[in-house]
Parts: sequence; structure tokens; C-alpha cells
Amino acid sequence: MPSTSTFHRLVGRLAEGRHATGSARTRRTLAQQPSGPFGAVYPVRPGELMQIDSTPLDIAVELDDGIIGRVELTAMVDIATRSIPAAVIRPTTKAVDAALLLARCLTPELMRPGWAQAASMAASALPYRSMRSIDERLENAAAKPIIVPETIVCDHGKAYLPNAFYKDETTPSFIRRLEAANSLRPGQLRTLLKASRRPWIEGLAAWTSYDAVVLQLAMPQLGMHDPDPVVRRTLAGRPTRTTHTVACHRCTLAHGAGRYVQIYTTHEHVICPCHGLWIGDGVTGFTDQLSIRAGTEITAAWHHHKNLITRHGRSGVRKAFHIAGVINWTWYDQFNHFTASTDIYDALAADQPAHANGHAVVAASLYPSIVNLTAAMASHYWAQIAHARRPNLFLDRISVEVTEGWSPRGAFDPLRHWMDTDWLPGFRGSDAIRPSIPR
Ligand SMILES: [Zn+2]
Repeated sequence: MPSTSTFHRLVGRLAEGRHATGSARTRRTLAQQPSGPFGAVYPVRPGELMQIDSTPLDIAVELDDGIIGRVELTAMVDIATRSIPAAVIRPTTKAVDAALLLARCLTPELMRPGWAQAASMAASALPYRSMRSIDERLENAAAKPIIVPETIVCDHGKAYLPNAFYKDETTPSFIRRLEAANSLRPGQLRTLLKASRRPWIEGLAAWTSYDAVVLQLAMPQLGMHDPDPVVRRTLAGRPTRTTHTVACHRCTLAHGAGRYVQIYTTHEHVICPCHGLWIGDGVTGFTDQLSIRAGTEITAAWHHHKNLITRHGRSGVRKAFHIAGVINWTWYDQFNHFTASTDIYDALAADQPAHANGHAVVAASLYPSIVNLTAAMASHYWAQIAHARRPNLFLDRISVEVTEGWSPRGAFDPLRHWMDTDWLPGFRGSDAIRPSIPR
């Protein structure tokens, strides 16, 4: 028997990468994966074995739409001759690029203006004249090898996976990108996953050959009902399935995840702090995301909003924010709201005329008023005054902070209606995962 420390080290090595002490689900997923076609292979003919591999290049590139991003080099390598018959550079590698590589591999490359004569097929050691008599496409061709592949191996399908996970991405959005990367029809993979009758996380793990734990960290909703306290602690604070929105498209492009990624969020997640884009209410696609650089009040309100959550708790602020939103939108419908928000609207619309009149730009300009009203409603002390028989103090605060001197009155006023009836939105609880399952 070895010493205790040596014994632990050896046991640790046995369990390495097998999740022997981890969850049973992960072990099942790993056991179901097919073994790879790896081992010692010694191809001797050109085309006997070819590999497709892609690697991110560490260079910044200005893409078509002026955004700076990274690119990937995808190349096909012939193992026997160690030559590269085809390679492409793309912002993200997709299955269609792999197909393009195959096409390029089989066709001659034409000489282009500026290339040295030494790069042409005619200048190579190959029997060019007799080859040209067989295939006239070799006229003026460059000395790029043309190899017909017999077997193509790609690195466990990375080219067929949507590039990178995106934090808090919704599972439908991830599946949509997975389908696009594999040139599947929309909905096809969903149907396959449904037909297998296994939990989706297992199906996705088998499809992507990612560990179930990795999938769960990327998409917490897959593990939301996991009673394992370790899992709950890891996922605590991540959004639940209550609110979803389109992620900031400049962030998703920078992550190489394409333009359209749908994510679950918490209710205060209305702007992207990196790019200053509005991603809150009114945004249904990336084209609605507008810059709020002309409305500094919106950023200030956003910080106020986050402070309110720290002070009064997430679920109370979420409820108050929802009610404050309904009240402010009703005021907007009744009389176009107050000058503070009209000023923000004018500044945003002047800065970006293309977004003027959109729902998103109105929502962004109402946001500071909504947060101010939320502040008064989320506070237990002020809410009590609002529902008391003499709510004058509360109304004074509102008229100073939100309604610009006007005191809401009348049976049809939405704020007075809330004060009289204390109506509540239909949802309860937090919009972020808690460390333990709520009873
Ligand atoms: Zn962003």
C-alpha cells in the first residue's frame, strides 16, 4: 500500500476527466459519446486522409459593417504530402466554409495579377503540358495542389458548432445557431431533440460533445430545477426564465457569435455598458438597438436603478418597476408625458434620426421617469404613505421628482388608481436564480 498522499494522487489521476466524483448525469453523457477515430494513422497517398481545422487569428479586422472583430483561419491539410490545398479566412467558421474548402481543394487556382511567375503551375516540377491536355482549366493555373480527398477528418465538429457560448443565451437561440452552423432547416434540430425523449441538456451534450456542466453554466435555465446545492450556488444570481431580450449586437459580434443572440436577463438589464446601446423595452431585434450617448440621464437612471435593487431587494424593485412602467406609459398615452422625457426623446431622435418614432426610443426616454417613480414605490415607508388616508407627502415627492409640479389627481389617473387599489402585477419573486429552491 502506498502512502496516503501518493494514494490520493493516484486516485485523483484515475478520476481525472471522468467526473468520478461529479454528477451522474455528466458521467452518463460522457459514456454515451462515441469514441473518436484517433490512433496512429500513416497515410501514404495524397488525399488518403485530410484534416479540416480552424484557428482564431490574433488580428483585428474591420468587417463589412465597420465593426472591428476577429477572424478565423480554416484550412484543409493533406496528411501524406503535408500540403494545404485550400484555406479560407472568415469572421466565424461554419459548415458551409468546410464545404467551400472541399470545392476549392478540387479546383485549380488561377494565377492572379501581381503573382510571381514562379508561383504558376507551368513553372513547377510537375508535367504541366501533359496535365493541361487532360484538364484545360489548368491553363494559367497557379501551382496549388489539386487533391481528391478520400477521408476528411474534422476536429470533433468545432466547425459545426456555433462559435462560442454566449452568456445566458436562451436555449432556442443556441439551437437556432447550432442549426445554422450545420446547415439544418430551422426547427430541424429541435424536432430531433424532442423525438429522443431525453432531457434537452443530454441531447445537446451529445450533439455538441460539450460536457453537460459546461452547457449548464452557459445556459443556467437548463439547470434551474437541479436540486443539487452545489449547482444552485454556482448559478445563483444568473437570470431566471422570466425576461428575455436580444443581446447587444456589438457584444455578440465581438464574441464571434453572430449578430442575433437572444438572452435571458434580469429586469434592470436595459443598456449595454460597454457600447452604450439601449437593449431594454421596445427592442425586438438588433436593428432596434440605439445608442444612448445623447441621453446621459439614461445611464444615471440605470445606476440609480441598480442601487435601488441593493437597497430594497430584487423582487420588490422588479414589481415596483413594472407598475411604474405601466403608469408612465399611461401618462405618455394620455398627454405625451413630461418635458424631462420629451427633452431626452428630442436629443436621442436628433442624434439618430433613423430610430425616431420607434417604440425603443420612447421607452429609453421614459426610463429615467420610470426609475424615479420606482424609487418612491419600492420603498416600504413611502408605499405605506401612498396607501394611507392622507397621501399628501407621497404626492408632493412625486410632483417634485417625476411630474414636474403637477399633482396626479382624478379617478382616471393611473398613479391614483394604484394608490387607491394597490394593484399588483401577476408575477412573484425574483428574476434571478436563488441559492436554494424557493418553497
Ligand atoms: Zn455591447
